[in-house]
Amino acid sequence: MATLLAVPIPVQDRPSALAAAARAAEFGADLVELRLDRVAPPEVSREEIQQLINDLTLPCIVTCRPTWEGGDHDGDEAERLALLGGLGRGGGGTAPAYVDLELAAYRRLADPPREDADAGLILSSHDFTTMPSDLDRRLIEMAEAPACRVAKLAWRARSLRDNLEAFELIRRRVKPTVALCMGEAGLPSRVLAKKFGAFLTFASLDDETATAPGQPTLQQLKHLYRWDRLTPDTAVYGVIGDPVGHSVSPAFHNAGFDATGFDGVYLPMPIPPDYEHFKATVLCWLEYEPLHFRGASVTIPHKANLLRFVQEQGGEVEPLAAAIGAANTLAKRDDGSLYAGNTDYAALLDATCAAMDIDRNGLAGVSVGVLGAGGAARAAVAAFTHHDAEVTVYNRTAAKAEELAAVFGGGAAPLDAVGQTAHRVWINTTPIGMWPNVDATPIPPGSQGILGPGVVVFDTIYNPAETVLLRDAAAAGCVTIPGREMFLRQGIAQFALWTGHTPPRDAFERVLDEAVP
Ligand code: NAP
Repeated sequence: MATLLAVPIPVQDRPSALAAAARAAEFGADLVELRLDRVAPPEVSREEIQQLINDLTLPCIVTCRPTWEGGDHDGDEAERLALLGGLGRGGGGTAPAYVDLELAAYRRLADPPREDADAGLILSSHDFTTMPSDLDRRLIEMAEAPACRVAKLAWRARSLRDNLEAFELIRRRVKPTVALCMGEAGLPSRVLAKKFGAFLTFASLDDETATAPGQPTLQQLKHLYRWDRLTPDTAVYGVIGDPVGHSVSPAFHNAGFDATGFDGVYLPMPIPPDYEHFKATVLCWLEYEPLHFRGASVTIPHKANLLRFVQEQGGEVEPLAAAIGAANTLAKRDDGSLYAGNTDYAALLDATCAAMDIDRNGLAGVSVGVLGAGGAARAAVAAFTHHDAEVTVYNRTAAKAEELAAVFGGGAAPLDAVGQTAHRVWINTTPIGMWPNVDATPIPPGSQGILGPGVVVFDTIYNPAETVLLRDAAAAGCVTIPGREMFLRQGIAQFALWTGHTPPRDAFERVLDEAVP
């Protein structure tokens, strides 16, 4: 049976609940979960709740979650059970498709529900703080309860690794099973529930009505995470970083999968900064074959960790990525071998060459000023010196500029010396001018004599789309390259490596137009 898409509706009154259910149906939900936590009798009569169920156009689950299980209902337990029991028997109207009852409450019942009840029984167990150590035992107990039609386990993910536990519980199911992880790290269990054949997953109508931390919205699940196209064979990709919550990469690569018909899905993968977390998580995702984890974009603070990891695993590391000391792309090939590459430096080089209408060989002898001495600067300096350009590094902390220049060759100067020397190409890798400090520029008015026709100015910042630096440079007659071009090119190279498809540039442009107008 196909995995169902369920939308929880925290019921406040009948009209608003019916309106929410109609929207859920319109957006493609298969069923709704009526959360009666705050409207159970005596606040609202059972007849009124029954009338709501009668009027629904979608099948429903009825839940009245008590506070002791993480819900909002703090009323009398006997009344709660009487309500659920009565609704489940469909007395006086349509029976809900399912009634959700906590395993802990079920254990205390003197008179358990019958197998032939009108509503199916979902037995559930939740832990909002951590992963319980006895998940298997709970699942067996649920499955052995004669009336149980669906077993549901939900817990807060301690890390991305907990998702694999959820997938295994679903794979080992005896009865239809739901296994979901809460929190940011639990998103894969929610999106990939369909890949592993879970009974259902939950998606909220909007952020305000989510009933568990980390629950995606229906729109996100359907459109961003490609719900309708997920299959058991779907390959999984992601962006590894800390933080990754606001990354544009999921929208970017999922749009690419859509446009090319590639059977893949791309997820945010938050991993805490240290190497041991990175290694443990990535290794177990790669080794868990049913997941089909095939690659990742890797961003701050893990670019050096990726390099070390692939080296330790005996994989192939792109030589210039090794020289730079950072990789941003992980791929697992069909033979299981690993590859780490750096698509940032190629994006910097190729965007510059395209703007100058030359090939990489044409960079020999070209004078390049790089502003900044961090990770992006390192990729720029390595790439341009590798192609025999004459690079000078300008940095706020002059010693770092000197260190970087010493590694790859080239000159170094403090950032406030910008303006004293002309260069054919300027590349800004500092965050000066980045949102929210959009009025700042690393080449202040007093130094703008260095800008003029024939000069190329590349600002790696992509938010805002046009920085003050780019505006000033364009006004002075320079050729300008926005950071968006770098983002596009590094992403396009990753997409091509993973999928073998021609990257759909238009689809990618549309995503960036929307993300950074
Ligand atoms: P990073 O390693 O933290 O380096 C930041 C650099 O900027 C350092 O050299 C730092 O100087 C300098 N800096 C920071 N704040 C400054 C300030 N207020 N005034 C003067 N200098 C300052 O960061 P990164 O990874 O290189 O990334 C830098 C930028 O590159 C990002 O902000 C992003 O906009 C851009 N980027 C864009 C793309 C893309 O696809 N378009 C990809 C990667 C990066 P000190 O050494 O003195 O601290």
